[in-house]
Amino acid sequence: MNVNSSSELAATRALRALMQGRVVSRGDDDYPRTRKIWNGAVENEPALFAVCETAVDVQAAVRIASQHGLPLSVRGGGHDWAGRALCPDGLVIDLSRMRQVIVDPQARVATVAGGAMAKEVAAAAGAHGLVAALGNCGTVGMAGLTLGGGYGPLSGTCGLAADNLLSAEIVLADGRRVTTGPDAEPELFWALRGGGGNFGVVTSLRVRLHPAREMLAGSIIYGWNEAGAVLHRYAAFAATAPDELGVTVGVMSGPDGEPVIMIVPLWNGERSQGERAIEGLRAFGSPLVAQVGPATYSDLLAQFDAWVEALDGYHWELRTRWLPALTAEAADVIIAAKARAPSPHCTVLWHHFHGAATRMASAGTAFGMRNEHLMIEIVAGWSPDGDGAAQRRWARDLLQSLAPFALPGGYANLLGPNDREQAAEAYGGNAARLRMLKRRIDPDGVFASAIPLPEQ
Ligand SMILES: Cc1cc2nc3c(=O)[nH]c(=O)nc-3n(C[C@H](O)[C@H](O)[C@H](O)COP(=O)(O)OP(=O)(O)OC[C@H]3O[C@@H](n4cnc5c(N)ncnc54)[C@H](O)[C@@H]3O)c2cc1C
Repeated sequence: MNVNSSSELAATRALRALMQGRVVSRGDDDYPRTRKIWNGAVENEPALFAVCETAVDVQAAVRIASQHGLPLSVRGGGHDWAGRALCPDGLVIDLSRMRQVIVDPQARVATVAGGAMAKEVAAAAGAHGLVAALGNCGTVGMAGLTLGGGYGPLSGTCGLAADNLLSAEIVLADGRRVTTGPDAEPELFWALRGGGGNFGVVTSLRVRLHPAREMLAGSIIYGWNEAGAVLHRYAAFAATAPDELGVTVGVMSGPDGEPVIMIVPLWNGERSQGERAIEGLRAFGSPLVAQVGPATYSDLLAQFDAWVEALDGYHWELRTRWLPALTAEAADVIIAAKARAPSPHCTVLWHHFHGAATRMASAGTAFGMRNEHLMIEIVAGWSPDGDGAAQRRWARDLLQSLAPFALPGGYANLLGPNDREQAAEAYGGNAARLRMLKRRIDPDGVFASAIPLPEQ
C-alpha cells in the first residue's frame, strides 16, 4: 500500500506531540540505523518509526496509525528473517527502548518489557540462579520468540518459551491496553501462545523461571568424512534422549570453509548423569573438537551470538520443516544438500522438540504441534554484494527434497510470506479457533504484518 506523504507528515506531527519517545521518519539522519534488522536482504522502507518508551507511547502509535490510514508493524528484536517488523510505507512500533527485565526470585517470575532481548532475560534470571525457556540466540526479541512458540535447549524440561508465559499486557487494534492471562481474556491468552504478533502489541510479559541445575554446555564438532555415521548415531541417540538434554545440531561450514557436523548440547540436571549423556554425544565418531563443560545459559547464548555478530549485515533466507525423526534417507538428503551448497553460509540446523514440550495438550495453547519432532531450519546466507539467487534456490530445493519425510505444517515463526501451504497446516486442529479469534480481536487486520495464520 502506498501512503501519500501528507498522511506521513500529519502522523509524524501528531506522534511528536504525543509521544515521550522519538519519531524517526524517512530522510532523518538516524533512519538507516533505526531501520536496521538482522536480515540485510530486507528492503522494506517504512514511512516512520515510533520509538516507544512506554506502553502509553504504544497506545498513541496504534491510534495514530489508524487515524492516518497507515499500515502498522511491530519491531521487537528485529530477527524475523522475512522482515515483518518493517511494513513498507507504514508506521513501525519500535520497542527497542522498552527492555526492562525485573525478576522476582521468590515467585520465580520475570516481568519482561515488550522489546527485551532473550539474552537480557537470561542475564537477569541467571543472577538469581534461575533460567528461562529461551532459544539459542541471545539477540532475538523475547516477545517475538515467545509469541510464535520458542524452541530451545530447555524445552525437554521446561517446554517452549510460550508454555512459560504466565500473562501479558497487550495494546489492541483500537488502542486499548488489556492484561491477558488464565483468568483474564483467556481466549486471547491462548492465542498469544503460538499465534505470534497477530493480536496486538505486547508491552509486557510475565514469564515463569526455573532453577538452574548443574549446567553443561559447549560444542562437539565432527569432520565431514564422518557425517553419515554421526547423523545415524545421533538419530538413535535422540530417540531416547533424556529430557534434561537439549541438543541443537548444525550441518554447517567450519572456520576453514569445509562442512562439519556441529553438536551443541545443553544439559540442565544432575552433573554426573549429564557427563554420561555428553559422553554419548562424543562417541558418535572421532570429534575434531569436543569442548563441553560447566556453563551458564548466558554462556550458551554468547557462543551463538558471536557467530551472529560476525555475519552482521549478511543477507538471509530461511525455510523450515518438521521431521518426526531423522531417518537415514532424510540425513542423506541433508548431507547431499550441504555438499552442493552455493556458499559456506548455507546451513541446516535443528532443534529437538521432546520431553515437557510434548506433554502439553495440543489444544492447550495455539501452538498446535505437540508430537516429538525435529524443527529443521534451512538457512541460506550470502554476502551483501551477491544477489542470493543460487542460495534462495538451494533453500527452496532442500525444502522440497525434505517434503516426503516431513510432517504437515512448520514452525510459524520461520514461515515466509509464500509458504501458504505450510501456514495452512501449521496450527493443526487449532486453526479454526485462531481464525475466529483474529476476526473478533483484530477485525480490520491492523496487525497483518505478523507470522502467517491459516487463511479464512
Ligand atoms: C539468528 C536467529 C536465531 C533464532 N533462534 C531461534 C531459536 O533458537 N528458537 C526459536 O524458536 N526461534 C528462533 N529464531 C526465530 C525467532 O524466534 C523469530 O524470528 C522471532 O519472531 C523473532 O522475534 P524478534 O522480536 O527478534 O523479531 P522482530 O523482527 O522484531 O519481530 C517479528 C514479529 O514478531 C512480532 N512481535 C515481536 N515483538 C512483539 C511484541 N512485543 N508484541 C507483538 N508482536 C511482536 C511482530 O509480529 C513482529 O513483526 C531465530 C531467528 C534468528 C534470526
